[in-house]
Amino acid sequence: MIYLLPMAPWQKTIPECWDSIMAQTLRGKIVVNFSGGERTNEQLVKLPFIAKCRNELVECVGNEKYSAMIDRDVVLVENNIIETMCEYLEGNPDFGAVGLRELPGGDEKPEHVPLSCVMVRKEVWDTGIRFKDKMPCECLSFIQDVRQAGFKMGYLRNQADIKHLHVFL
Ligand SMILES: [Zn+2]
Repeated sequence: MIYLLPMAPWQKTIPECWDSIMAQTLRGKIVVNFSGGERTNEQLVKLPFIAKCRNELVECVGNEKYSAMIDRDVVLVENNIIETMCEYLEGNPDFGAVGLRELPGGDEKPEHVPLSCVMVRKEVWDTGIRFKDKMPCECLSFIQDVRQAGFKMGYLRNQADIKHLHVFL
């Protein structure tokens, strides 16, 4: 298992978020890529940087079976959640990826699972699926591509497993 952290050049890790990764029961190599941003709130401008940053991280996966992609402003509420996500993919080979909810409840087969914290199996990368700078966001086209390749993708479970601090600077 490998941790992949996309970031923008001027961004720093937020202590609360970083600590929640370091506290995880499942250890793994951590790769941070700072190529993911342009100082703007314009999605059309930001999106190519974000997609490219995520794709560069995928190039670091090597033979790791599972990749956890986590945004820098996300706090993992429980310290065994990364291990739980890996166990889920291990037990559900039909799932290509799972994400975590910020709020409890919601659709069981959502159209869109945000990439705030997702666990992706290597077979998904092996099919050649990468992130696209396709509006409105790279997560929407990702879930569509994953499903089109024959994998399932959804949320791990029905509870709030992340706190999203929504820090933009
Ligand atoms: Zn999205």
